[in-house]
Amino acid sequence: MNALYRHTISFLGSLADFVFPPFCSHCHQRAPEGLTGGICPGCWSSVKKWEGGQCQRCGNQVAGKKSLCELCLIPGWGCSEVKTIGPFEAPLSDVIHMLKYSDAISVSRKLGAIMAERIVSDQKYNKADLVLAVPLHSARERERGYNQAQLLAEQLGRALGVASPKGLVARCRHTKSQTTMNKEQRHRNVEGIFAVQNPDRIKDKTVILVDDVLTTGATIGSCGQSLLAAGAREVLALTAAAAPL
Ligand SMILES: [Zn+2]
Ligand SMILES: [Zn+2]
Repeated sequence: MNALYRHTISFLGSLADFVFPPFCSHCHQRAPEGLTGGICPGCWSSVKKWEGGQCQRCGNQVAGKKSLCELCLIPGWGCSEVKTIGPFEAPLSDVIHMLKYSDAISVSRKLGAIMAERIVSDQKYNKADLVLAVPLHSARERERGYNQAQLLAEQLGRALGVASPKGLVARCRHTKSQTTMNKEQRHRNVEGIFAVQNPDRIKDKTVILVDDVLTTGATIGSCGQSLLAAGAREVLALTAAAAPL
């Protein structure tokens, strides 16, 4: 596609949005100011956000600087901290669906910016050396065409000025769907499914490990353990939303 053609298409798109404002896919109202990632600015500002002092998985109050409450803590978890935008509820759950199935670039830009805001004042996250995505199995990535967590990692890396290389860690085993499993079964299901491809680039590094949704934390924790075993100094988890079991 040449540049003139691309500019013409984009100009016509803006003109169409001006004459016929698009509908927000959450509140279904026309959005004269345009959409970012499928929803209007008003709906983005209604996204529920958890603060410090709230468990980043269930939202319960926690004492001090802990990121998970007693109920959600996982012994031997591979991540020393976790931060999440908020609960997996609409409209956040809707935009995460769009991130996987449509409008991925636009949603990842907006979600990545909000995730960056979550950690910008945090000393530990701020000093991270690398941003990595929890990988999908290669067959699943081929099917979708991209890894949604990698899109978020790239936006975040750009916002923080930190590299977000792809392929340093791979998912080497396909796992069964975890939706019907309890917490213990989920942890067993994902044990040892990740392999670090290039330990030299991980050694002594503090890594922000990114995924779209945190459920029990089994998957991101297992990925974190593989990074630690390969020599990472610390692994800090960051997800767009947290879904209760
Ligand atoms: Zn809306
Ligand atoms: Zn909790």
